Amino acid sequence: MRIAILSDIHANREAFEAVLAAVRRLAPDRLVLLGDLVGYGPDPGFCVDAARELVAAGAICIRGNHDEAAVHGPAGMTPNAHEAALWTKAQLGAEQSAFLDSLPLTAELDGVLLVHASARDPAAWHYVRDLRSAAACLAATEARMVICGHTHLPAIFYARAGREPVAFIPLRDVPAPLSAAHRHVVVVGAVGQPRDGDPAACFALLDTRAREVTMMRVPYDSQETARKIRAAGLPDWLGLRLQIGR
Ligand code: ZN
Repeated sequence: MRIAILSDIHANREAFEAVLAAVRRLAPDRLVLLGDLVGYGPDPGFCVDAARELVAAGAICIRGNHDEAAVHGPAGMTPNAHEAALWTKAQLGAEQSAFLDSLPLTAELDGVLLVHASARDPAAWHYVRDLRSAAACLAATEARMVICGHTHLPAIFYARAGREPVAFIPLRDVPAPLSAAHRHVVVVGAVGQPRDGDPAACFALLDTRAREVTMMRVPYDSQETARKIRAAGLPDWLGLRLQIGR
């Protein structure tokens, strides 16, 4: 099965549309939206409506911490995220909020556990960004593979029972091998706010039969998104960071 996984779209219409065009060309069997449809970016309504249409057509959509903050209000977020969450909440209509509020914290597809942050207490939004947090994530589930987002930093962790996991930063557009002898945590980079120094939008293509996963990169018009962020009165840094991939 070939599965396209889009995480951390963050109300970035330009990045979302560019990635969806790339996904259509790849024609995967399934599409997964891994949470944080909104937050930070200037087009929350558009991104929620597009996600609803994709779900109606069979996509899986998981809840992210920013989706939750856009409905119930921000708690414990950085000042920029807090400000953007309040702005986002005011932009959404009742149906859009209800859709976000209906999203599940986890889902399973073809033996893969899908979760926005970590399999370890998904509602606590732990980051999987080092060997310890990857091991804790895997210890919390029986699944052979966990796919998550939330850090905006693509990574793959390979784990064998009784040993410390091994981390790998996948190269852009190059399939990374997965192993039948290991369990994996695949951390998918962000569509709408990459933080690994590459401003191109990121999504993952998982091929469960070939046992490989590819972090695809898609350049898009981040200047336009930054212009809209300024026009909306959102913090300037939220636009600037899109153009430098931080
Ligand atoms: Zn995010």
